[in-house]
Parts: sequence; structure tokens; C-alpha cells
Amino acid sequence: MTTNVPTIHIYNTMTRRKEKFEPLVPGRVTMYVCGPTVYDLIHIGNARPLIFFDVVRRYLQRFYEVTYAVNFTDVDDKLIRRAEETGTSVPELAERNIADFIQDSQSLKVSPATLHPRVTENMDEIIAFIAELVERGFAYESGGDVYFRTEKFPEYGKLSHQNLEELQFGTRVAVDERKESPLDFVLWKAAKPGEISWPSPWGEGRPGWHIECSAMARKYLGDTIDIHGGGMDLTFPHHECEIAQSEAATGKPFARYWMHNAFLNLNDEKMSKSLGNVVNARELASRHKPEAIRFLMLSTHYRNPLNFTDEGLEQAQNGLTRIANSRSNLKHALKSVPADADGEAAGEAEALARVEAIRDMFHAKMSDDFNTPDAITAVFELVSEANAAIAGGTASAKLLGRIDELFQEMDAILGILTEEGEDLLDEEIERLIAERTEARKARNFARADEIRDLLAAQGIVLEDTPQGIRWKRK
Ligand code: AMP
Ligand code: ZN
Repeated sequence: MTTNVPTIHIYNTMTRRKEKFEPLVPGRVTMYVCGPTVYDLIHIGNARPLIFFDVVRRYLQRFYEVTYAVNFTDVDDKLIRRAEETGTSVPELAERNIADFIQDSQSLKVSPATLHPRVTENMDEIIAFIAELVERGFAYESGGDVYFRTEKFPEYGKLSHQNLEELQFGTRVAVDERKESPLDFVLWKAAKPGEISWPSPWGEGRPGWHIECSAMARKYLGDTIDIHGGGMDLTFPHHECEIAQSEAATGKPFARYWMHNAFLNLNDEKMSKSLGNVVNARELASRHKPEAIRFLMLSTHYRNPLNFTDEGLEQAQNGLTRIANSRSNLKHALKSVPADADGEAAGEAEALARVEAIRDMFHAKMSDDFNTPDAITAVFELVSEANAAIAGGTASAKLLGRIDELFQEMDAILGILTEEGEDLLDEEIERLIAERTEARKARNFARADEIRDLLAAQGIVLEDTPQGIRWKRK
């Protein structure tokens, strides 16, 4: 955390405008993103909000103390059906998929949230929340179910910019006789025989989907949260229902900023089970580096649809190789430059100023509604500065060190630069190069050539320079 907080603007789905970000409590941010229903592995569409909101959190964490909650929906119709089909229990199925989710998140370099609350571990609070809504007249019991009385909350529709009247007019669905109105939504579902259930004032059952987020956000983050996020499909009805429940119960605004990511398409097609083109994140992460996946995900603005293709991944990988080459050359240059030769070379002050301007640009873009594609452009401008400084051969330790520092600063936010195991690999390469130099000195040319070939096979090119051997990745 630093005290120098930039002015951050966030596009708020509620107002359809970019707004200046001001958390409810100065210095602290509460953030809730609707998490997975844990009945299966996550697919690459789910990975988009996962990665994007991870970047939002990383960025905000530089300036604020962030409490980030991502819930696990560990009981619902899909889990019950899948457990039945696979001859397992709902808790077992959920446990396995939660472990898989955490593993897949890690392999995409997404750290666990501060909190991962689960429905089954917050049943008392969920039931108490529903009871409060019943008591206040916002909900009613009907045949062992409980429904939210939507018409009692006239602002229903405000997030998705629909008004209650239009919604009422638009409901063509046959009226469910258990409900007073077709717009009413379920808060508690009576258990069918043999289904997993919990006791409640309305009999055995389980919560509907929407209520869990209202209850858990309130319990862990308070009545009003700063940022609420999720995919844009959640705007209606899920988030609309969350607002109705929470604001009916507390009388306070539920979330100050609503953020929604657009969808990811695969080769210009919607990813769906019926089209048979669903790619799970695990499969993708086994074939590609997490940095390349993150790079591709972040190279489109989160509010624009993202087209995920093999060519896109290849381009992302090429971009990463350019960055990696530049960084390893930078490290090499840093090692050979005398630390005390500061700021003497011609053009040094100008170069430093350009580097600082790139840093300012990076932050200006990130704080403008998390413009990650433009932030990535700033990374490449830094690559150009790094390459120019190295090629000149006279750059000071101060300039080279500052560039290196900024690469790290940007990487801490985007998570696309440092390739796993790269440092170890660098050491290994340098050890081999040193061994080769020794072998040549000892006129053991066979061994020297062997090492050169070995490195070439790994895509490492050696170059003789007046400062010694330099290497780069092809
Ligand atoms: P679900 O498990 O379908 O509730 O999705 C979990 C999260 O992933 C939600 O925030 C969804 O909006 C989001 N999501 C699902 N499919 C996609 C997609 N194709 N592109 C982007 N986000 C998605
Ligand atoms: Zn939710």
C-alpha cells in the first residue's frame, strides 16, 4: 500500500457512467464477486471474470486494504442432479470441485480471495435473512417455499434499466400458482423427498440462488459494499434480485459500484454445451503458459466481448517472448554495468523522463476503468526503452535498474511478465555459459561445442560481445 492514491474511475453499470471511485471507508475496499457453482470444472469463459477481477484486486491493493470475497455455491439444482448422476453426495461433489477451482485458479496465477464463503457454512445467516424479509412483508411462505414479493420493491429493475411495469407487462410465463406474481423469485425451496436439506421455520429445504450473495456479503463485508462484480449475464435477474433482497432488509444501498465483464467467445462463437465447444480452463492451462492466457484475456477491455482463438494465444506468446528477451538482456546489462557510473551518458536524463512518463501512462490507463489493453501497450513501450538503453551500451545502472523496477511493478498488477521457473532457468543458462567459457579456456572445444548445442536446442542463442557472452531466447 502507498499513500499516493491516484484518482480511479470505474464504469458503474447502475449509472452507466464512469464514476470517481471513493470507498465507503477511506483506505479500505470491500469487493464481492459472484463465484462458481461448484458442480464441474470451470471453463475459459468463467476464467475471464476470475482473471479480470484478480487484476482489479491487485491494482486496488496497491493503494487500499482490500477485502475480496468470492462465494462458492455449494448446493443447488445442478449439484443435486450431478451428484445423483455420478453416484456421489452433494458435499463430496462440492468439495472436489472447490479443490479443482483453487488448483485451476493457481495455475492461472489467480490468488485465492480473502474470503471464500460457502452456502452450506452460512445457513443460519441465510435463514435469518429470509426470516427478516418475511417479517418486513417483503417475502411470503407458500407451500414450504418462500418467495420475494417483488412488487413491494419498486426499484426492482434499476440496475438493468428496466422498470417494474415493463417487466410486469413482459412476463408471459404462465403464473406459478405458488407465487402471488410471476416476478416473485424464490428465497427458500422446500426439499423434494431424498434431497439434501436443512431445517427452517418453513420446513426442510434449501436456499434459492440469489439470497446467498445478499446474506454472505452482509455477514462478511457489511450492509454496503464498495464493488460488486460478475459477468454481465448476472446483471439480470441475479444482481437485480440481490439488490432487492439487501436493500429491502437494510434500507441502505447494497453496492456502490457495479462492474460487469462482457462475454468470452471461442473462435467467434458463443461457448455452450449444446454447440459442444466448451473448453475447460484446466485443459487450456495444460497446453499454454498462464501468462499467455492472462495476456490474451487482458488484451481486450473487460467491457468488450473477447474473441478467444489459437492465433490470439500465439500472438500473446510472441509478445511475451519479446518481453522476456528484453528483460533477460536487461538483467545481463545490469550485471555488467558499474553501479557508480550514474547519469553521465548523453541522453540519460531524457531516457529516464520517458521511462517515468511510461509509468504514468500505465497508471493513468489502469485507473481509467482498468484499461488493461492500454496498460499492456505501456509495457511494450517500456520494452522499447529497455532495448534502446541496452543497445546504446552506455546506460547507467540507475536507468537500467529503474526500468527493471517498473517491469516488476507492472507485473505485480497484470501477472503476465514473469514466467514460471524463468529465474531458475536463467541461472542454469548462465552456469552453462560459464562452464563453456572455462572449457574454451582449457581448450576443451568438444565440451564447449556440446554446451553451445545444448543451449541452442533450448532456443538460447549465444552472442560474443566486448562485455562477454550475451544470450537471448529465440
Ligand atoms: P456460472 O458458473 O455460469 O454462474 O459463471 C460464473 C461466472 O463466469 C459468472 O460471473 C459468469 O457471468 C461468468 N461467465 C460464464 N460464462 C462466461 C463467458 N463465456 N464469458 C465471460 N464470463 C462468463
Ligand atoms: Zn451473486
